[in-house]
Amino acid sequence: MEVICSPVEMTAWSNKKIAQGKIVSLVPTMGYFHEGHLRLMRYAKTKSDFVVVSLFVNPIQFGPGEDLSRYPVDLDRDRMLADKEMVDALFIPDAKDMYPEGFNTQIQVSGVTETLCGRSRPGHFIGVTTVVAKLFNIVKPNMAVFGRKDFQQLAVIRKMVQDLDWDVSIIGHPIVREEDGLAMSSRNSYLTSSERKTAICLFSSIQYARNKFAQNKHVAPSSLLDEIKSFIQGFNGVNIEYIQLVNQETLENVNALDDNTLLVLAVKIGKTRLIDNGLLYDGV
Ligand code: AMP
Repeated sequence: MEVICSPVEMTAWSNKKIAQGKIVSLVPTMGYFHEGHLRLMRYAKTKSDFVVVSLFVNPIQFGPGEDLSRYPVDLDRDRMLADKEMVDALFIPDAKDMYPEGFNTQIQVSGVTETLCGRSRPGHFIGVTTVVAKLFNIVKPNMAVFGRKDFQQLAVIRKMVQDLDWDVSIIGHPIVREEDGLAMSSRNSYLTSSERKTAICLFSSIQYARNKFAQNKHVAPSSLLDEIKSFIQGFNGVNIEYIQLVNQETLENVNALDDNTLLVLAVKIGKTRLIDNGLLYDGV
């Protein structure tokens, strides 16, 4: 596996593969790899000739008071894990090369960024789309793989790619979970052992909603939401940021439930903010 830090060298590497007619895929990450990241890499490997994984804790997608300064880092372990997954290039740019002095451009997608995490994390998605646009231009991938755990990020990137006529296939990979159902996340490492037990409340709420929906498909979204909220409030120390039932494509609140309705949740457990989502119908 090649480890590349310079954006210029990364582009030169990709240009060579593209000139040979090879398919290049990109898996953008912020590192501190867990099985969720590794499954994205494995999937990319099956669909392309060369896999590039970017590892960049993107400062501009963190708001003031968020966890940028304490975001977990373990570069040696990440290198070892990516190498084991037969990743072809690990791209680890420096913030000063991604955003040199005088950097003055932002990519902003309207609409789909204005609800859910976009509302609670102002500016977050501008940071995400700006860095992903840069990564697409540097790596020039044919396809890019993102996790469905970050469902809104995926929707925003799909919209950016569509609106800007970008010739990159965007793949949404299913959520990878711990044995008890907690969605894997680098941020799970912040949880104390009692918070870790409480964190099961997200997946339990999804299962609870699925059972209720299976019993009565005609239940009003507002009353199902009330039930889910009282269910999750039964767990100690959970602060709800949002719980909504949305259309999985538009992310708009639904007036009636169907199999494609997505339950989306963001909660705080202690200082740790966790998100999760699941369709009312199946195990996605
Ligand atoms: P991050 O390093 O947290 O920015 O995540 C990098 C990529 O991995 C994003 O596309 C995430 O959606 C994806 N990802 C993170 N956790 C999971 C998970 N548990 N299952 C599937 N994809 C994930």
